[in-house]
Order: sequence, then C-alpha cells, then structure tokens
Amino acid sequence: MATTHNLGFPRIGARRELKFALEEYWKGESSREQLKAAGAALRARHWNDQARLDYVPAGDFAFYDQVLDMSFTLGNLPQRVRDFHGDALDNYFRVARGRSATHGEQHAACCGGVAAGEMTKWFDTNYHYIVPEFDANTQFTLDVSRLVEQIGEARALGVNAKPVIIGPVTYLWLGKAKDDSDKLALLPRLLPVYAALLDHFAAQGVDWVQIDEPALVTELDAEWRDAFVTAYDALSARRVRLLLATYFGQLQDNLALACKLPVDGLHIDAINARDEIGDAVAHLPDTAVLSVGAINGRNIWKSDLNATLEWLEALHGQLGSRLWIAPSCSLLHVPVDLTSEANLDAEIKSWLAFALQKLDELRVLADALNHGRASVADALAANAAAIESRRASTRVHSAAVKAAIARIDASLGQRKSSYETRASAQAAILGLPAFPTTTIGSFPQTGEIRHARSRFKSGELDAAGYRAAMEREITRAVREQEALGLDVLVHGEAERNDMVEYFGEQLDGYAFSQFGWVQSYGSRCVKPPILFGDISRPKAMTVEWIAYAAAQTSKPMKGMLTGPVTILNWSFVRDDQPRSVSCNQLALAIREEVLDLEKAGVRVIQIDEAALREGLPLRRSQWGEYLRWAVESFRITANGVRDDTQIHTHMCYSEFNDIIASIAGMDADVITIETSRSDMELLDAFDDFNYPNQIGPGVYDIHSPNIPSQEHIVDLMRKAAERIPAERLWVNPDCGLKTRQWEEVIPALRNMVAAARSLRQSA
Ligand code: GLN
Ligand code: ZN
Repeated sequence: MATTHNLGFPRIGARRELKFALEEYWKGESSREQLKAAGAALRARHWNDQARLDYVPAGDFAFYDQVLDMSFTLGNLPQRVRDFHGDALDNYFRVARGRSATHGEQHAACCGGVAAGEMTKWFDTNYHYIVPEFDANTQFTLDVSRLVEQIGEARALGVNAKPVIIGPVTYLWLGKAKDDSDKLALLPRLLPVYAALLDHFAAQGVDWVQIDEPALVTELDAEWRDAFVTAYDALSARRVRLLLATYFGQLQDNLALACKLPVDGLHIDAINARDEIGDAVAHLPDTAVLSVGAINGRNIWKSDLNATLEWLEALHGQLGSRLWIAPSCSLLHVPVDLTSEANLDAEIKSWLAFALQKLDELRVLADALNHGRASVADALAANAAAIESRRASTRVHSAAVKAAIARIDASLGQRKSSYETRASAQAAILGLPAFPTTTIGSFPQTGEIRHARSRFKSGELDAAGYRAAMEREITRAVREQEALGLDVLVHGEAERNDMVEYFGEQLDGYAFSQFGWVQSYGSRCVKPPILFGDISRPKAMTVEWIAYAAAQTSKPMKGMLTGPVTILNWSFVRDDQPRSVSCNQLALAIREEVLDLEKAGVRVIQIDEAALREGLPLRRSQWGEYLRWAVESFRITANGVRDDTQIHTHMCYSEFNDIIASIAGMDADVITIETSRSDMELLDAFDDFNYPNQIGPGVYDIHSPNIPSQEHIVDLMRKAAERIPAERLWVNPDCGLKTRQWEEVIPALRNMVAAARSLRQSA
C-alpha cells in the first residue's frame, strides 16, 4: 500500500481569515485570545480538510512565518528582544515586524522599540521569511510549547499528525551571522536541542517527523555537506522516525549524500527531480521510505493523473509499502480552494487545481495504486478529459502567436545605433539639464482613486465617469510635477491597481481568480494572475492615458510599462511550455505597446523589470541560461525604437554585483535603481564594472514616511558620482510613490529638485 501525506497547507485561509485576524489584533481591535482562537479554528479546519490523508502536517501553521516559529522553538531570539517580559506572542510579532499590537505596546516603555527582523525570499518562491540571526555566542534552548500544543490539537481531531520542522542544517543555512562568524560552528550547540525536541515528540507518541532540508537542492560546499552527516548521525538514535524532506529542485551531487544519511525516509520533489528517482531507489537502504512529490505544489494546474500513474505504478511495484506520495512541496504556495471561483470561466476552471483539489488528486493516485485504476475510473476519465481539453484548446494555442515566436531573430532585440549615437540624438530632442530629475512612475493611490475604482467595478460609475475621475488625477499629478520643477514627468499610474494585473487584464491569454491569494509575508498576500494561453495584445493598453497626460504639459512625458520578465515572474505560468517561450510572447506583446507609444509621440518610455532578479534559479550553474533569455526578452520588448526614443528601465534593488553584465546587456538608455537606504554602498558593483549607460540611483527611500533633506540627497549623489561619471547620473526616488501620501511626497520631491539644482551649480 502506498501512503499519502502532505508537507504543509496554506495557513492564510480560503478567505484570508488569518490576514484579517492578524491585522485586527495589531490595530488593537481584538484580543490576543481572539487571535489565538482564530488560529486554532484555521488549524482545525485545515486538518479536517486533510483528514483523509494517512499523515497530515502539524506545526506548519504559523502566525507570521514558519522560520520565525522555528527560531522561537530553538530559543534563538535576537538579543534586542530578550528582555521583553510581556506575552511570547507579542514578542514574536516584535521580531517579525518591529512591534506588536497597539495594546501589546504597554511594554514599549520598559522594553523599548526594536528593529524588525530582516526578511528575504524563501528559496525561489515569492514567500518571504524572517532571517534567523546568529553570532559567535548564540545559544539555543528548546521551547516545545507551540509544537506540543498543535500536535495535541490535531490528535484531538482524530487526524494522524506528522510534525513538520526545519532541519538543523537548513536552519543555519537560512540565517545570517551578524558578526560574520562561522554559522556552522553553531551546529554542535544546536544538535542537542534538536535531539531533545525529537525526544519530546517520541514521548508524545509521535511516529514520523518531517524534517525539512531544502538546502540540499542548492550548491553546497564540502563543509556544508559534512554538516549533514554530523547532524543526522547525531539525531539517528532518537525514538521517532525521520522523513527528510527536500523540495524546489534536484539534489544532483547531493543525492548520494541524502540517500546515505541515517534517516527513515527521503522526500524528493518529483516535479523538478523526477529523473533522480531511479538513483534514489538504487541508493536508499532497502528499509527506507521514498516519498515522491508527484503533484506540483507550486502551480495551479491539474495534474495529468493518468500519465503520473504510468511511472508511479512501476515505482509502486518496486517499492510496495515503502512508497509514499505527496505534493512536491508545501501547498503554502498555492491558493486554497478552486470551488470558490464562481466568476472564473468554466472551461479554464476545469483545467485548474488549488490546494484542496490537489489533495483530491493525491487521493485518486493513492486509490489507483492501492486498489487499481478501475476503482477510480470515473475520476481518471474526468481528469483525462480536462487534460485533453486544455491540450487542444484554441484558447490556449494561437497559430499566429506561435508563428511570431518562430520569426524572432537576433535583430529584433538590437537597437539601431550604439548608445553614444542614441544619447546625442536623445539629448537634442529632450534638452535636459545635467542631473535630470524624474520619478519612477506611480503617484499616491489616494482614497478618491480607490473609491472611483470600486464604484466602477460595482457598476455605480460608468466608463466615462471612471475615465473622467482618472483624468482628474492625472492632471493633478502633472500640475504637481510642473510646480515642483521635475524634468521628465509621469502620468502617475492612477488607473492601475497593480503593475502586473493591469497588463494581464488587457492581454489575451490571462485569467484572474477572485480568491486565489497566496501568502507573500506575514499578513500580506498576492493574487497572481493566471497565464494560461498564448499571449497577444488585442489593442493598445496605455497609449490613451499617456497621450492624455502628455497633452497637459510641454515637458517630456514618460510612458510607463511593465516588462515581460516581471509580468512572468509575478504570474502563475504555464507548465506546458518553457518559461522562456511565455516570456518571449509577453515581450512581443509589450513591444507592440512600446512602438504604439512611440508612434503617439512619446519620447521617453520606461519598462519596469522590478522582478528580474527574483527569477534567478536556485543553482548558480543555471543563472546564465535564465539571464540569457530574460535579457533577450527585455531587448525584444524595448529595442525596436528609434535612436531618439529614450528607453528607461527600473529595478527595485541594486544588488547587481553578480549580474551587472546582464543588466548592461539589456542596453536600456537609463536605469533607475534602489540605493538610498544603503547609503549608495550598493553601488559597489559599479566600482569594477564600467556600466556604459545612464543611471538614476534612488535618493529617496519611499518605504519610509521620512522626508529626505536636500543636503542628504546632495550627499548621496556625491557618493554616486564617485563611482559613476556625473554626466550620466539622474536624480530620482528609489521606487514608485503609490503607497505614500501627497503630503509626504511633495516636500520630499521639492528637496530632491533643489538638490539637483545645487548639484548643477557646483558642477
Ligand atoms: N512604475 C512602478 C511604480 O512606480 C514601479 C513599481 C515597482 O518597481 N515595484 O509604481
Ligand atoms: Zn521599484
């Protein structure tokens, strides 16, 4: 018999219940007990939803972040919160976000304010975790309360709980040594705490423990590989069975290592590493369980169950009851329930599976393995019909788009002239001063904008009324920019709810869910659009708005677009063609928009690639391939323009050290980046690499309500000029201003313009 289990379930709730419960608590509108009860209710609901599995995860629930939970379990709290003597949950939120609930701040006087923990991407997902902090003196002490409580709750519901913890090596790997000490030196101190934790589980009657070591899918040096041996040797004598879970990629040269660790089972992500299963079977001891992640935990597509069974049945024949099946990774990365999607087109909906539907698929696979395909003949036939309908659908496949892709050649991404020639043509047309000023695109999304949008969506406001409301906002943004004396203006993006959704909604090949929320960090969720078919642009998407804005001023107006790589990286994408092909389709569609803007007389066009860096694969050995097609897609989008059309791009970061050559390869005339908070230190990348075109290093931290002073901005720009020739510098904020208030933006930009003027004088 094959065993079914799950690695983790989305905790945010099908209606984002956890988000709302957290935000109420933080605002002081509910009590700690109410928040804890909301968490318990969600856990209970999710265990009931998973009850038909042989093992369900426990401990995967977190109020904020599972890595931060692990830090608390291991007693690894940053020094700055150690003296807090209020409730532990409030202290947890202090680490997570710098503060707890309004009423939890009764300890503000005695315990002081704290800096929030640093947040970073969880492997190659769009989930962000709180980075564990270490130094040479870090000590660990076990706090089992959370896990013991959750295992008890699951038991009381009658489900077979399998605690989920982050393994010791990955835990160290995820963290940061604040004093640059060797993190691995902490392993001997950490292992006794893990051993004690496992003993607690054993005492509670736990049978299997899932111990997550996704660091095994990354490139590890000998020291880290040795750490795995040390760690699991030390934990092998405990009285629970360990299922070592890897996911998000292939193990490659870590496969043999993983197979020989003294654990009782190994989970492999068969979506990414199916061709490693044979080797795993060969290398695993013949008593070990092999858990196969046969259903994609990262996308929203139905699995092809019949095709999966072809290879799973063979594996089952080999392994018998040593075979476990599961989703490839925790379902944290997919929305909860497709059945809520009443507005989704029925045919597209028939191709999809969210978390609950993925668990149904798992059940069907298990029944087919354990009782024969005939026992689930109807479910398999329905699945085959859905897969076939998607494969053959003319809504997915467009001959015209495929032909356009086939016609792509190198010339498409090539500007007509070199940067120098273009720069002088652009200077002649634009007539900009030294240190030109601009902004990144959006201006505050005011209450009036949101109100107009929601009235338009509900039908209270007609299209003409909505357009008029947006035009009023655009006019306001233009007037403000003129009054401030900015050099290159923007229309302010009032009409855009989201920089990806706005384009997705107007492109053919995209669908939108109503409740398809996925946790990004803490209480923040995103609803990625679903790229389901070949992409095309039925008509211009931005030209009318930009032309309207341009007509309000005699200053240059910048056209504003989102680039193909960012649209791709922030969407659920197709699994039936390479990402690079989807990206090229997006590139061709946005290219048409670029050319239409140019035709409409727009001389400066910005194509945002906020998420280009996020798409980097986990393994460095695969970076080159990704960067090659990502950069090529950008070039296809941008580079069909005339010499005197100036292309800008924007990126929400500037850790460029390792990819700067690729960034330069995009050949944008101007790139604006985020640098203000690092005091321009992030510009170090430009010390060794002579970036050939113009750069606007952000001088205004838009994530903070603080107003930067003129002196501070001048100071930052002088630092920038130490690395980049002054004649190639622009003066601009770090990112868009949509989350700020006009009252903050105006004085900040006034100081920015004044700083640029004083730089011009002293130049
Ligand atoms: N143009 C977008 C804006 O200004 C860019 C946002 C981003 O980079 N995340 O809002
Ligand atoms: Zn940005």
